[in-house]
Amino acid sequence: MTIRSTRPGPRRVLVPIASSVLLLVGGLVLAGPAAAAPTPTATVAAASLSGYPTLQSGSSGDAVTVLQRLLVGHGASLDVDGSFGPATAQAVSTFQGSQGLGADGIVGPATWGALVPTLRSGSTGGLVTALQHVLNLRGAGIAADGSFGPATLAAVEQAQARAGLTQDGVPGPDTWRALVTGGSGGGGNGSNPETTYPNGQLPASALCGVSYASSWRLACYTIDDYEAMNSAFRAARGKNLPITHGTLTAYRTVADQQYLWDNCPSRCARPGTSNHGFGTAIDISVTIAADRSWLEANARSYGFVQDVSGEPWHFHHVR
Ligand SMILES: [Zn+2]
Repeated sequence: MTIRSTRPGPRRVLVPIASSVLLLVGGLVLAGPAAAAPTPTATVAAASLSGYPTLQSGSSGDAVTVLQRLLVGHGASLDVDGSFGPATAQAVSTFQGSQGLGADGIVGPATWGALVPTLRSGSTGGLVTALQHVLNLRGAGIAADGSFGPATLAAVEQAQARAGLTQDGVPGPDTWRALVTGGSGGGGNGSNPETTYPNGQLPASALCGVSYASSWRLACYTIDDYEAMNSAFRAARGKNLPITHGTLTAYRTVADQQYLWDNCPSRCARPGTSNHGFGTAIDISVTIAADRSWLEANARSYGFVQDVSGEPWHFHHVR
């Protein structure tokens, strides 16, 4: 869906963006590939809850079902129907109050952080029952008996494997994220932005930060596949996927696209036409041969294709 046009006239080709790019946007320096590989440990605590959907009155779907299971696990009396109505809003506010959080009834990172328990083999109780129901929602087929035994352990490990996570059998924030969002199946997290929103105008609720750098945003629809791909890449290459253009690497607003158009019209997409404007594309550095080889061999299995001729760094999520 990226359309590139060459524009004649004196403003043409101000920046050769195909090379390592160093752009200055509003005082923010966007580093090129050489500086684009942060360590995975730097922001683990803060980033571990990125990628969770923001839920509020009117939300519906499997993520709401998971939320309701967790609320019940924490003691709420609530119908589990996948629909975020007044009773769910009240249960959320009550839970937030009990945790010393602002009782706004909106489930964002802080509330998710308080909701998702770290459980392990031998754990018992309502939160284990919630976990078991949620595993079943994602296809496990185990007894929801509140006892974390071998069947639950196996189901957790399977969910972790599907999401590209370490199979330690201990569901923590990453595993819960996969369970909340539907793992790596793609499309489990809201509707496809390419058919839902105007280009470059996604609402904040449809955008999810990349786990190791939350300022890089992708459509929540796309993020699970990206995180699964990153986990597999990290296992193979010992680092996170390196990106190219700082905050402009992934989602681009209309203004972001205009900036690029004004500065590299021979290469950048005409504003409003880039799939970066839907949060379904990310530019990944392919300057290191082994990184490039891994991506060429594996990206497609996570739904990412290189579909712009002459831009081997451009990966578009197409499922
Ligand atoms: Zn791109």
